[in-house]
Amino acid sequence: MTTLVSKWNYPTTVRFGAGRIKELPEVLEAAGIKKPLFVTDPGLAKLPTVANTLKLLDDAGIAYGVFSDVKPNPVEANLIAGIEVFKTGGHDGVIAFGGGSGLDLGKLIAFQAGQTRPVWDFEDVGDWWTRANSDAIAPIVAVPTTAGTGSEVGRAAVVTNEETHTKKVIFHPKLLPAIVIADPELTVGMPAFITAGTGMDALAHCLEAYCAPGYHPMADGIAVEGIRLVFENLPKAFADGNDLTARAHMMSAAAMGAAAFQKGLGAIHSLSHPVGALYDTHHGMTNAVFMPYVLAFNRGAIEERIIRLSAYVGIEGGFDGFGKAILKLRNDLNVPHTLPELIKGLDMDDERKSLIADMAIVDPTAGGNPVELTKTAALKILQNTIDGT
Ligand code: NAD
Repeated sequence: MTTLVSKWNYPTTVRFGAGRIKELPEVLEAAGIKKPLFVTDPGLAKLPTVANTLKLLDDAGIAYGVFSDVKPNPVEANLIAGIEVFKTGGHDGVIAFGGGSGLDLGKLIAFQAGQTRPVWDFEDVGDWWTRANSDAIAPIVAVPTTAGTGSEVGRAAVVTNEETHTKKVIFHPKLLPAIVIADPELTVGMPAFITAGTGMDALAHCLEAYCAPGYHPMADGIAVEGIRLVFENLPKAFADGNDLTARAHMMSAAAMGAAAFQKGLGAIHSLSHPVGALYDTHHGMTNAVFMPYVLAFNRGAIEERIIRLSAYVGIEGGFDGFGKAILKLRNDLNVPHTLPELIKGLDMDDERKSLIADMAIVDPTAGGNPVELTKTAALKILQNTIDGT
């Protein structure tokens, strides 16, 4: 375990290794933050991991505020409330502490507190990010407690618009945290369901990035090693949550997924976003449910790539072998095979299916799918995921 300690400067500064959370006070100083707002979610706020982290700040004599009104799948109301606390507390930076929800909301508070335009003006569309006042963005220190979203090394944050029931991806280069503490010990307490869902999220990021069309060999290289790490370590972390080596490799795989998906994502995410927004399902677990159906749908465009990937990961049997390996991994992690198994009592009428397909094809991730995601295609994948066919 001692060898799994490192400092990376890609795509930002990452202090990686078990126990490194104790470096938080010096990290704040390095980031130029004197009075941080510590942002997390209410579930984590009750756990000793948060109390222990806040004690580090107390012991260092750092004045801070805490904001934990963050829903899983955070909503705009959380952001508005967080900005209020940030401003009234006179904070000059954010410690974003948590899974994707706490990380994204923390990042968005630091970003949006100094802006005059509504957050929806900074959606990940074209060059909309240039509308922002870049000088007014407060520095962010990110501390992931799940191993999935990779938001700690990403320039985007996801927030749900409750008026339109849509998950919106907000993008700005300065949403990239200044410094990350990636301490796998913080992920040890994750329940098995969250370990599985977040780990499958990391896999979905790597896989969709790798399959996205376009020339980006850097992203491809990161993605294939990320996929290998997930196959090798996610079952171990799921079986034994205290396996720190597996937890460390999963934390790397999560960051690698986010570094890779600047190349693009695809239909797994395009469909998972509306389902998550409408049914409040866990993001990574929803991705995991859609994964084999999207892979099968894309086969014609990705077969050769998947065969190359399989050779690297050590999976035999060509495209079909890879498909079977995904199904086995899902099965080993108790991932539901169909949407009705994920969403108990699901009864989707044609109108609802049509709405999901409409939302999927305009999702910013749809353009990265290797086969054009038409409405007919989205409806077909959705139906297969309902029927398990
Ligand atoms: P999450 O942050 O919503 O956390 C899920 C649950 O796990 C919460 O109840 C939380 O309290 C608990 N939890 C977190 N860490 C824990 C720990 N160490 N021990 C015990 N419990 C713990 O889950 P997530 O999957 O990490 O994040 C999902 C969110 O991230 C979604 O909103 C999704 O849209 C977003 N997302 C963002 C990006 C991005 O690039 N910014 C990428 C993918 C997903």
